[in-house]
Amino acid sequence: MPENYGQPTEGYARELLTILAEECCEVAVRVSKALRFGLKEVQPGQELTNAQRLAREVGEVQEVVRRLIIYTGTLSEDEINEGMIHKADKLAKFMQTKLAS
Ligand SMILES: [Mg+2]
Repeated sequence: MPENYGQPTEGYARELLTILAEECCEVAVRVSKALRFGLKEVQPGQELTNAQRLAREVGEVQEVVRRLIIYTGTLSEDEINEGMIHKADKLAKFMQTKLAS
């Protein structure tokens, strides 16, 4: 756990957390556009499909998370992996659609 745990987050970690929040919102926007207009749509003035733009935003989130792990210790890779395992279990239980074979 970071030594300043319990104190307001400052400096590099604070800026990265702010950027993470922004990037997660950008992912949400791209998901909404893909659902409303389709994954293959290219919005006016854009060169990439909604699927490509969504993937790039996910990549931007991943890069910020990587920096939070490596440079600040703000996020624990082990905890992230625990979250992935937990989510896999939830998805297995509660997904209402199944993969098409
Ligand atoms: Mg972005």
